[in-house]
Amino acid sequence: MAANTFGFIGLGNMGAPMCANLVAAGLSMRVFDAAGTAERAPEGAVAADSIADLAATTDTVFLSLPDGKISGLVCDAVLATADRRVSRVVDFSTTGPEAAGAMGAKLNAAGITFVDAPVSGGRAGAIAGSLTVIASGPESDMNDLATAFDAVGGNIFHVGEAPGQAQAVKLLNNFLSATAMAATSEAVLFGQKYGVDISTILDCVNVSSGRNTASADKFPNRVVTGTYDAGFATALMTKDVALYLEQVRVAGTPDEIGSVVSGRWNAVLEDMPESDFTEIYRHIAGETQTGE
Ligand code: NAD
Repeated sequence: MAANTFGFIGLGNMGAPMCANLVAAGLSMRVFDAAGTAERAPEGAVAADSIADLAATTDTVFLSLPDGKISGLVCDAVLATADRRVSRVVDFSTTGPEAAGAMGAKLNAAGITFVDAPVSGGRAGAIAGSLTVIASGPESDMNDLATAFDAVGGNIFHVGEAPGQAQAVKLLNNFLSATAMAATSEAVLFGQKYGVDISTILDCVNVSSGRNTASADKFPNRVVTGTYDAGFATALMTKDVALYLEQVRVAGTPDEIGSVVSGRWNAVLEDMPESDFTEIYRHIAGETQTGE
């Protein structure tokens, strides 16, 4: 087997296009997804039979999994592989600082390097290879991973040496994104109640001081179009905001806005468990007489 073989576990909304970009950059990829590898594997990647098969045949394994619990279970399966070859695990998932710290400790104890590397930019950024990669881990690994990170990302940040530091930055980013989506939904509905067209409201805000990621991107491209197809599940955003709030409370920093925003997302998830996160607008609209 050629040196520097790469594995990818989790070929979902993010993982499949990220993996396709790694293949396009010339990396030799073996891949696995619990929901069915063959139908999710990008062209040019080799489907592995199991996590153990992948762990026995690759040097660096990338993960893009739903949450910290699943990333932890997959790391346990890698560690349990008797004839494993893996020497480095890079987790692109949003897992939270505690899960990332625990995974790093377990893997390091077994001689495996761990790089905590959550991403931002959504499915569109994953397809375009323009994600923001927020990484924490040993400096030397950043150099080794430069080709891979450049293949999936447009902006690469090495925010520290310890697993969990990257998760902290990722969670605070998603808290801001979640807040923008929730607040913009309420604000737009307020304007609509006064009979102003939604596109006019957005055009005005987007050249004014209220501009944010929801008003500039999610609303014009996913809400006004009625497509609600950002490719990021409400369940995952709600998980991220809850994780943020949990960690803020551990850190002892202020949580007033975080509490309100987390409560709002919990209600959206209860109302629309299978929704895209941009559908928060539809959820909030359902509480008003304006509606859509
Ligand atoms: P997803 O649910 O679309 O994909 C996850 C994939 O993991 C699925 O294909 C699933 O079958 C697979 N999987 C689950 N358990 C597994 C296991 N035990 N072994 C192997 N495969 C398993 O999720 P996604 O939207 O691609 O998100 C992945 C991660 O990236 C999450 O942590 C999410 O928070 C984060 N993220 C998502 C976005 C986005 O816009 N979708 C943006 C940034 C970060």
